[in-house]
Amino acid sequence: MAETTLFTRIINREIPAEIIYEDDLCIVINDISPQAPVHMLVIPRKPIAKLADAGEDDKSLLGHLMWVAGEVARQAGVAESFRLVVNNGLGAGQTVFHLHLHVLADSQADSKSSETFSESNI
Ligand code: 5GP
Repeated sequence: MAETTLFTRIINREIPAEIIYEDDLCIVINDISPQAPVHMLVIPRKPIAKLADAGEDDKSLLGHLMWVAGEVARQAGVAESFRLVVNNGLGAGQTVFHLHLHVLADSQADSKSSETFSESNI
């Protein structure tokens, strides 16, 4: 049987996290080690190890995760300027093998249009 992932343990409330949003398909939490003023993780309840492992039957779930990313960015006030990052595989820097989308933004992004969000390590 597949090992329970760290994010499944967060979803099951076995490990605490700052939960921003959840629905029947996914959860959004604040990253424990933020690389930007706003750094959220959109995580499907389904423990797909990495993006390249998603099947054809996961297409609507992947679309839903993208929609949720925009929704939580709106809620955080950064809808005009944010980045989405998915690390796929060890070589790309993936450390938690449960698919997740990083939502990264400058918390002032919507109010300071002259300043741009700098590069992060993600
Ligand atoms: P990856 O490197 O796999 O793309 O991203 C994994 C992310 O999960 C990292 O940004 C890391 O800081 C975050 N992370 C790892 N463990 C925890 C945890 O226990 N709680 C939270 N909220 N984030 C975590």
